[in-house]
This record gives sequence, structure tokens and C-alpha cells, in this order.
Amino acid sequence: MENMNPIENARLQLKSACELGDIDKNVYEILKNPQRVIEVSIPVKMDNGDVKVFTGYRSCHNTAVGPGKGGVRFHPNVTMDEVKALSMWMSFKCGVMNLPYGGGKGGIKVDPSELSQRELEELSRGYIRAIYKYLGDDIDIPAPDVNTNGKVMGWMLDEYIKLTGHHRPGTFTGKPIVLGGSKGRTEATGLGVTYITRNICHKLGLKLSDTSVLLQGFGNVGSYTFKFLAEMGFKVIGLLEWDKEIGEYALYNKNGISYEKLSKFKEENNSLVDFDGASRISAEEFWSLRADILIPAALENSVNEEIAEKLDIKVIVEGANGPVTSAADEILKNRSITVVPDILANSGGVTVSYYEWVQNRYGFYWNEAEVFNKLEPSMNEAFENIWAIKEEKNLTFRQATYVYSLIRISEAMNYRGWF
Ligand code: NAD
Repeated sequence: MENMNPIENARLQLKSACELGDIDKNVYEILKNPQRVIEVSIPVKMDNGDVKVFTGYRSCHNTAVGPGKGGVRFHPNVTMDEVKALSMWMSFKCGVMNLPYGGGKGGIKVDPSELSQRELEELSRGYIRAIYKYLGDDIDIPAPDVNTNGKVMGWMLDEYIKLTGHHRPGTFTGKPIVLGGSKGRTEATGLGVTYITRNICHKLGLKLSDTSVLLQGFGNVGSYTFKFLAEMGFKVIGLLEWDKEIGEYALYNKNGISYEKLSKFKEENNSLVDFDGASRISAEEFWSLRADILIPAALENSVNEEIAEKLDIKVIVEGANGPVTSAADEILKNRSITVVPDILANSGGVTVSYYEWVQNRYGFYWNEAEVFNKLEPSMNEAFENIWAIKEEKNLTFRQATYVYSLIRISEAMNYRGWF
């Protein structure tokens, strides 16, 4: 299944959730394809005077509960099928957190490192000129994804305002704060991962101060996860990172790595390779360490079959998107290792994007504490509801999460008379 076309893969997950949740077969028929997919050609006048034409896509998967929501990625491997699949996964993710959105996703087939800033800006603006009629804070709402960021959202919002004449900042999320971005968005995904990690520990009877964690990745998600785990009393004993000179390497300290020392070192050296508060070990040694919890927060497909066989842990909390391959997932299930899936564990990010949209439409802005005070109970509620389904139907955590989300989407479609 690993090398399968992503939309085929997404459909299999959808079908399985329909079957496990005894959901009407018409739901599968409606959801197996997005409601709308757009392919556009974007001509850009390059710095050398030539015109280069890029291909862009936007998929809006389902609008039963609200407008489409999901990022825009700039990557050479972007395809229409990938964008369709990612928009379906976004429908599931929004459903998990009860957000009033269906899934959306967009992308442009491009290697942004080959473009100048001016070319990148032209491309971002050209993408919006091509699809702006299908975007809006009540139509479909893009956000940053792979290789896009707040700066790109700023250009896109500006182009959208110029074309429509309406200042509707809620059409995009992940904006810089001064353009209507939300306080707390940067920390939100890592903070959410930490809430979910704490909750699963409570369910499994693990005392936080005795719980050891292995973390992969010290980027946005990984570093904030580390910070909040440390604040809650967890011990992060192993960290796997990547460096362009030496590739993968890991740090290990059986008494726990100090977040303060680590983040200070990163700030001063822009790398953790020579960090002296832990021993340097290989990636292979990292994957064999004994710990309670593993949080992959770097890349997709990091936990493959071979790694799944040797892990000496009790729980995986998926901080990254799709870090466990489907073959590895099967092995982990047979080894009774609980896997808390990405669409719940890392949904703090999209939830605070939703708060950004609410604040934009309201025209009234919250401080960081207000954002976090809303995030925690809503993640706890989703966790508890999914746990109840998992226990009642005897499902894996991942299966229960998909079923829980699908029940809500299918109810909405039913009330709207779609089947
Ligand atoms: P990032 O680029 O900020 O950080 C990724 C980190 O992983 C970097 O520190 C990098 O050095 C490290 N890394 C790269 N290759 C590695 C390897 N082979 N082994 C170990 N470490 C490696 O990215 P991010 O925003 O933290 O996103 C991480 C994952 O979380 C992605 O899958 C992303 O889709 C997902 N995610 C992010 C958010 C968000 O709000 N940023 C929300 C939901 C999901």
C-alpha cells in the first residue's frame, strides 16, 4: 500500500471507516471524490525575461458542514491525485475536532528553491488570480503547508483583496499576526500533541514524571512538543534529528535532556550536533531505545516495518502527518502498541487556524491565554469521545478516530438531504 496512488490509499481508509462504523454505503460514494478539483496554468515572467508556466491545483473535498479548509504546498512532486487525497484527509481532520469546515488542499508543481523572491511572489499571486472565485472565508480557505509560510499568505491575501475589493482576511489562515494571524498559532500543534500525550498516559495509568519519551524532529512541532512535555514533567530521553553534513543523528540522556539547555544551544549554534547535555548515538540506536512513548514529529513514513518490529515502547503519538507506514501500522497493532493518529494528535494547528478565522470574521482578537484556554478543552473532548468509541467498538485508536469523524460528516450530509 506504501507506493499506492495517494487517492487510492485515502479511499481505502474511507471505505474501512464506513464499514467499521456501519455507515450508509452512499457516504462512501459521495466522499470518494472531492466535490470540486481545479487545475490551472500559471504563467510567470521569470527574471531572465522568459515566461514559464506552472501547474497549480485546488481541491475542495466536502462542504457539508462548512467551507473547505487546508494548506497550499509548493513542491515538484505535487499531483492532482495527491491534492485530492490530502483534501480528503483534511475533511477527516476537521471532523475530528468538530470544526465547521470540510477538507481542502492546494498545490503548485514547483521547486521554490529555484525561484527568486520576486518570481515566488508572482507565482503566489498568479495562483490566486487563477482560482480566487473559488476561495473565500465561506467558500474555501487556504493556509501554509510544505514550503509555504505566512509571507506567502500575505501575498495571496493582498492579491485576493485587490481582485475582490473586499478586505476578508479570514479567506487565508496562517497569516502574520499583523495581517490578522492568531496569537498562539506557532505553538499550537506542539501544545496539542502534548495534551494528547498527557491524556493517553492518564488512560494507560502512566505517571507523567515517570514517563520517558523519544522524539523525532526539533522543528516547529518537535521543539514546542518538547517544551510543553518538559513543562508537564515528562522526561524526553532521546531526540532524533537531521543535519545536512552528517545526516541523521540522535541525542540520548537516560535522566532526560534539558529543554532549556537544548533550545539555548540551538539558538546559539543553529544545530544540535555538538550538544553536550546528552550522548550522541546513531539513528539505529535511537529506534531501539527503551521508552514509554515515541513521538515522530519530522517526516512522513519514518516508522517503517523494520523499525516497527524493533521499537521498545508502549505508545506512538503521531506529531507529524503520516509518520507510520500502513505496513508498520499493522505490525504495531499486532504488537499491541497504541498509535494515536495524526488527525487527532496534531490537530491543534488547524484548530487554532479555525480560531484565527473566527477572530477575523469577528474583528476582535484574543490573547495567547485565551487561545490556549479554548484549545485544551476542545482537544480533551475529542480525545474522550474517540476513546469511548474505541472501547465500545473494540477498534484501534486510528480506526476509532476515522469512524468518529466520519459519523459527523455523514450526519451533516444526511440532514442536508444528500442521501
Ligand atoms: P519543520 O520543518 O519545522 O521541522 C522538521 C524537523 O525535522 C527539522 O528540525 C528537521 O531538521 C527534522 N528532520 C528532517 N529530517 C529528519 C530525519 N530524517 N530525522 C529526524 N529529523 C529530521 O516542520 P514542522 O512544521 O515541525 O512539521 C513536522 C511534521 O508535522 C510534518 O509532517 C508536518 O506536515 C506536520 N504538521 C505540522 C503542523 C504545523 O503546524 N507546523 C501541523 C500539523 C502537522
